[in-house]
Amino acid sequence: MGKDVKRVIALANQKGGVGKTTTAVNLAASLTATKRRVLLIDLDPQGNATMGCGVDKHAQSRTSCDVLLGDCSAVEAMVPVEYGGFMLMPANQDLTTAEVRLLTMTVGREFKLRNAIAPVRENFDVILVDCPPSLNMLTLNALVAADSVMVPMQCEYYALEGLTSLMQTVEQIKDSINPVLEIEGLLRTMFDPRNNLANEVSAQLSEHFGDKVFRTVIPRNVRLAEAPSFGRPVLFHDKESRGALAYLALAGEMIRRDELPGEPPPDEPVASNEAAPPNEAAPQNEAAPQSEAAPQNEAAPQSEAAPQNEPVASNEAAPPNEAVPLNEPVPPDAPV
Ligand code: ADP
Ligand code: MG
Repeated sequence: MGKDVKRVIALANQKGGVGKTTTAVNLAASLTATKRRVLLIDLDPQGNATMGCGVDKHAQSRTSCDVLLGDCSAVEAMVPVEYGGFMLMPANQDLTTAEVRLLTMTVGREFKLRNAIAPVRENFDVILVDCPPSLNMLTLNALVAADSVMVPMQCEYYALEGLTSLMQTVEQIKDSINPVLEIEGLLRTMFDPRNNLANEVSAQLSEHFGDKVFRTVIPRNVRLAEAPSFGRPVLFHDKESRGALAYLALAGEMIRRDELPGEPPPDEPVASNEAAPPNEAAPQNEAAPQSEAAPQNEAAPQSEAAPQNEPVASNEAAPPNEAVPLNEPVPPDAPV
């Protein structure tokens, strides 16, 4: 995802509560912090991403529903996210109507989003699409509009089961209407390394999907859960929390992947304290440059930001005077 690469990424998993919306909002903020131009499209009638960005879903005259139905252009439905610095195409319950209307159409119904965002694609480095928890017409529209699909998932017993049908759907779409569609990566969310089953499932994932599994692991972190109630990405709620650091690390990993295509993946996912002790943090010069990954100057509003010269790291994640491994995975140690 170099700055010259334009990419539409659908966040999809037909399971609910796996961290799609949390990832959409916080990755949008983190990528913006690395100076990428980001659009977040809320494609879930629940409008959680919209509310999580501090935008009142009930007060919007133009939403993704209108865009899908061709009642307004993508640009007309976009609003700036004050705490985040990116653009949002909001959604609310109206989107359910749009889905029903799409289902009654016979031609082109799965191309609505793709066609609608075509004129604005060049205006953004990354367009994230937050999908509803089902493989419905809305998700299909996202997958047809997307270049890649990111799959947030919890490492629990049934996680792999749902994954199979999602992967089949992705393959079908790739083989038919959207040949460029790729798997951006599988993202382990709400991870608790003290949970044996989570570690087992995590290992299975790596075995099956190899380097498609992001090294970055999102820990279970209360700051991530409470940030939406403030209508802010976690970066603007508690930027030193492990949740904030994890999503910065994810953005860093995505950027680094693009900058170093073909770099072999590391053998071990860093998913425990043992794997990456804080004092073995990556040296600064191996990480993305501060200006690329740290939200210290541009992203955070001055009034909200912590002192500029402090490293973005929580006490748990790294000692304050250690290098900040911004694009290294944050070890998900004890949950907050
Ligand atoms: P989805 O969009 O897949 O349904 P959400 O992102 O809405 O999932 O997450 C489901 C719930 O879990 C939300 O209440 C959210 O705040 C919480 N949550 C998500 N990720 C984390 C995390 N890493 N740590 C703690 N809570 C989380
Ligand atoms: Mg959601």
